[in-house]
Amino acid sequence: MARGLQKIEAQQKAQAKKNAGGKSNLKARAAAFKIVCPSCKLPLSDYKNFKEHFESKHPKLPLPTEESLAPPA
Ligand SMILES: [Zn+2]
Repeated sequence: MARGLQKIEAQQKAQAKKNAGGKSNLKARAAAFKIVCPSCKLPLSDYKNFKEHFESKHPKLPLPTEESLAPPA
């Protein structure tokens, strides 16, 4: 009986570890989006992607500079 309980506890711990790992992965992924389009709030991973997005989605708007989009250090 006690053995079975330990097994369940171990499984729960393993599951918790998995969940925590998933969370940190998600965080890392969110951190990969450094730039948010000021016009439509779409997150983009870097200025190159942003430029491509902006030129195709908002061709009538002036392209913001990389400096104006970077979050304050
Ligand atoms: Zn946009």
